Amino acid sequence: MTREELYDIARGLQEQFEDKAQEVCQTVYDFAELGLQEYKSSAYLKQELAALGFRVSENSGGLPTAFMAEYGEGHPKVAFLAEYDALPGYGPDHDQNGHACGHNWIAANCFGACQILKEMYDQGLFTGTIVYAGTPAEESVGGKINMVEAGCFDDCDLAMQIHIGKGDDSELGAQYLAMDSLLFTYHGLSSHAAGAPERGINALDACYLTFNGVNALRQHVTPDTRIHGIITNGGLAPNVVPALAQSKWYVRAADRAYVNELVEKVINCAKGGALMAGATVDYEFVENGFDNLKSQPELISVFGECFKAAGVPAEHVKTSLREPSGSSDVGNVSWACPTVGSNMGIGNQDGASCHEEVFLPNCTGPVGFAGLKKAILAQTFFALEAYTDPALQQKLSEIKARLTEERKAIAGQSRVHVTVL
Ligand SMILES: [Zn+2]
Ligand SMILES: [Zn+2]
Repeated sequence: MTREELYDIARGLQEQFEDKAQEVCQTVYDFAELGLQEYKSSAYLKQELAALGFRVSENSGGLPTAFMAEYGEGHPKVAFLAEYDALPGYGPDHDQNGHACGHNWIAANCFGACQILKEMYDQGLFTGTIVYAGTPAEESVGGKINMVEAGCFDDCDLAMQIHIGKGDDSELGAQYLAMDSLLFTYHGLSSHAAGAPERGINALDACYLTFNGVNALRQHVTPDTRIHGIITNGGLAPNVVPALAQSKWYVRAADRAYVNELVEKVINCAKGGALMAGATVDYEFVENGFDNLKSQPELISVFGECFKAAGVPAEHVKTSLREPSGSSDVGNVSWACPTVGSNMGIGNQDGASCHEEVFLPNCTGPVGFAGLKKAILAQTFFALEAYTDPALQQKLSEIKARLTEERKAIAGQSRVHVTVL
């Protein structure tokens, strides 16, 4: 059977199953649960996959809302990296959760691809294993990281994700940054801020002096570095010298080893701030350590052709590597097995992008659904290439062998991953 014949069968099945994928997209959108609280979303997805005949294993990586669902046997084993956590801070009072990053759309595009591939597998069109990876809390602790640590992807030959993107362009050369998160807690001594200030030790001074130190550090870091912090506790009343203050930081750069150097420097800024204020400081890593995405240009070019075959105009398929920006736990998966992370522009013309309140309506409804169809097909085609093209299979096994060596080389560099339970 030719590639075009295979693709045409997939296109027919996509039409047949379109309503189901849209239902998944809408249902997860309506649940809008935050990371590690996606109980309804994960239960619903597990139930739908089990109904298709997928074997579901729960609590992957020790996370109650993580799961792996598999269909078929043996290799190639292709994993779709589904997400379903929402973001806080939307609605008129900024107190509602919303799928402003479109993770409901990712859950649905993975589901759509799995449903089509299951049918084609049953028709005897290829052999191998189809994997729907239910990965929670991308926006916070990075659930994939626990799953990688637990070996969930060690046996996979290819992993992929299509994230929702704005406008017309689809970007396949995502460059996610390695990242660590730090929480500093400063300890001082309370006193009357006006009546007896000389008796107080101001923990908030130590906190903002850390910001001053980091701002001085910015001149002396590589351009890919991103260091950004917030004060999460700055005292309780202006007339009481704060005895306790806290700041939370993300430290990012293109390379894991460099992030580790930066983290030491940021810790020194906090120690310096504490010393100046006469306070003390301690710190902890409050979220998992995100690793940078290991880009695979040979796979990106194949995936790019699949985007085009799925109906994305060629001039909007961008396969060159982008400037590094943001971080994703897809990065950690990319060190365990050959992985492509991508963004698909859904063609919204309102200028809105992820995390904005005005982007919310694009993650479902007519605009989101039009993009959903293309994302389902692009992933299905890419998986079909992996299942049926011996040359690509050879390439995948070479990349995997290379990764095994490279992973050894960075072993121990990643932060000890925090226990999130
Ligand atoms: Zn996001
Ligand atoms: Zn996202």
